[in-house]
Amino acid sequence: MQNTNDSPSFDNNNEPISCPCCKSRRLKKLNYGKRTGGTIGTIAGAVAGGASLIGGAELGATVGLVSGPFGIVIGGFAGALMGALLGGATGCSVGSKLGAVIDDRILDNFQCLDCKYTFSQ
Ligand SMILES: [Zn+2]
Repeated sequence: MQNTNDSPSFDNNNEPISCPCCKSRRLKKLNYGKRTGGTIGTIAGAVAGGASLIGGAELGATVGLVSGPFGIVIGGFAGALMGALLGGATGCSVGSKLGAVIDDRILDNFQCLDCKYTFSQ
């Protein structure tokens, strides 16, 4: 079925939020959890990536084995590097998502710029 798309579309979760205290729309999103989660996630991911670093190096070295001693060094280095990078990136994204959930569900993520009242969504 073809949608002609002539009606304006809205994001399903994009309702305007206003302060429950003074009804002001001038709000600040604090995002403490998201920022903290991203940082912790990056560290945790890099550590986990570091733990798999040896596995990555081994795998790289095994692959590199085909092309001789030089291949082992290059392969091992590439494998280790990929493990750490992948771990850090994955950890950051997982941590940020987790933190965003904490922001939305647990923390008072919004602060009113007019009356300084903090509240959750
Ligand atoms: Zn307010």
